[in-house]
Amino acid sequence: MTTAVATQYEAVIGLEVHAQLLTRSKMFCACRADYQGAPPNTTVCPVCLALPGSLPVINKRAVEYVMMTGLALNCDIPEHTKFDRKNYPYPDLMKGYQISQYDQPIAKGGWMVLRVDGREKRAGITRVHLEEDVAKLFHRSDPSGETYSLLDVNRAGVPLMEIVGEPDLRSPEEARQYLRRLRAIVQYLGVSTTKMEEGSFRCDANISIRPAGATGLGPKVEVKNMNSFRAVHRAIARPSAGAAGGTLQTVCASLRPAGR
Ligand SMILES: [Zn+2]
Repeated sequence: MTTAVATQYEAVIGLEVHAQLLTRSKMFCACRADYQGAPPNTTVCPVCLALPGSLPVINKRAVEYVMMTGLALNCDIPEHTKFDRKNYPYPDLMKGYQISQYDQPIAKGGWMVLRVDGREKRAGITRVHLEEDVAKLFHRSDPSGETYSLLDVNRAGVPLMEIVGEPDLRSPEEARQYLRRLRAIVQYLGVSTTKMEEGSFRCDANISIRPAGATGLGPKVEVKNMNSFRAVHRAIARPSAGAAGGTLQTVCASLRPAGR
């Protein structure tokens, strides 16, 4: 059965990677960006707490880091760029919107070369843009079983670089090599700690299955917030193998380590 699937279907995989940038201060305020290990809600100010009347001031170094990454990924750096509001109501988002980039990213249209099973493959990079990280929620329950949530705003506003890849990958192994290579490039540039276990380098995957040779995209499976090469490999291998003549529906899944 596995052989039959392999000859009739192919996986189409695109990865989106979020990397926290290694700047001293946050994206739009002077708060320390190294929130890891700081007591909850101590590296905050009116801007990243989104108090009324506070205004963002851009972090120049963060913009330079995204340009460096874009150039390393053979991207074009347009003369103009802009930031946009991405509105969504969620308790980890202090302002009710995230400052991100929509139609004019800092870098776009790049590629990198992967080596998979002894051959070279070129994988496209759609864009590299800059946004801000969100606060952290901790879901707890008391001895009576009552559930409640705690909020730590320290991470809110930390500069986050998003690298969006073209859907050029065709196997879990190609996805793994793509991530490895991308992490090595970002690490070499020194723009991010790329510590996957701390969530400073994390990956979302869009996976669809189509008959081999077809050009359109099938229904999409989206797997979010993976923070290890192994998780990415496993998450992609599952829907790839699940295409045995059944129908796929668009779903959104989240994989988190136990206890978080
Ligand atoms: Zn702040």
